[in-house]
Amino acid sequence: MKVQKRVKQELCSTPCNLCGSKEITVLANHSRSGEPLRTLICRECGLVWSDPLPHNPRDFYENDYRISYKGHYSPKPKHILRAGNVALSRHRKIERLLSTPLAILDVGSGGGEFAYLLQTLGHQIQGIEPNNGYAEYSICEYGLNFQVGFVQDVIIPQQSFDLITIWHVLEHTDNPFAVLTKLHALLKPQGILVVEVPNIEAICQSPKCTFHEAHIFNFNIATLTRLAEKADFTEISHVVSADGGNITLFLHKAIKGNNDVGELTIEGNAKRISKIVSNHTPLKHYLVPERKSHFSKKPAQHPEIFFGKIFPEWNKRLNFCFTISFSELFLTIINYKRTFPVEPVGCSQKSVRQLVFVAR
Ligand SMILES: [Zn+2]
Repeated sequence: MKVQKRVKQELCSTPCNLCGSKEITVLANHSRSGEPLRTLICRECGLVWSDPLPHNPRDFYENDYRISYKGHYSPKPKHILRAGNVALSRHRKIERLLSTPLAILDVGSGGGEFAYLLQTLGHQIQGIEPNNGYAEYSICEYGLNFQVGFVQDVIIPQQSFDLITIWHVLEHTDNPFAVLTKLHALLKPQGILVVEVPNIEAICQSPKCTFHEAHIFNFNIATLTRLAEKADFTEISHVVSADGGNITLFLHKAIKGNNDVGELTIEGNAKRISKIVSNHTPLKHYLVPERKSHFSKKPAQHPEIFFGKIFPEWNKRLNFCFTISFSELFLTIINYKRTFPVEPVGCSQKSVRQLVFVAR
């Protein structure tokens, strides 16, 4: 007698945001913090998302996110320094698009460093940031034009922007298709949208860090591009970072009638992603020679983490002492000098912000 193997049918509460299917497989059951987090992959297209949602995205990003990430609302000098360097690297990615003054929308502007950089370069910047503390900080400290809220809700006239940037935001939203559709409406007909997200195929991070509560959706190039096409965009180009960790996608609006998206399924993509995720084991990860040496260098590179874990009561003090290291300050000054003539004004906590952003 033939015995049929019973396969448990897994269910999801919402259909796939890309192709609409409910045919899913559970990819993981825990987050990087070790807490339960059910992560699914759509068998039809390979889109990956958390179900059920680990938090209410509205409450989380308005109030809790910065606390759970960084322990407070307003950025400390060390965060401004790091965000300043991130702003510079983002500027380099889009520099070729900035030859004339543009009307730019930056979605999820955080502490406003990137928006401030572009404003200083002569562009007209509008920022959107859901977190009250960071938005207030950007408005008060940098005099930026920010709206507090979620991009889905903001009221801005259609076709207002030449360029829209959305860096590491789409993966945090509960409906990335709706967000891209909104951005399509806000972009001028010849405008460009730049989207950057983490790459689900990345193996540069520890396998334990692949999934976490803040990232509701996870993309690879195929799913991100297909979702953009569904929202009536066409790819200009894409770049995968050297470590494979991030995807930057450059898009423009599809020419009317030319964007027949057809079937939204992506053959073989779910299989490809599942294989990469399941093959990315801790053993394989740390057996790679460069990662072994990186792991052994960690205490030297990040003494505040190393010592802070051993002596938790020292953590706060060490954190400040080590993270604003002189080498970091020096590199930041050098980097900014490449963009602007910068006048260093000292190394005190109070003056770090000025040191990073005094531009003449
Ligand atoms: Zn799907």
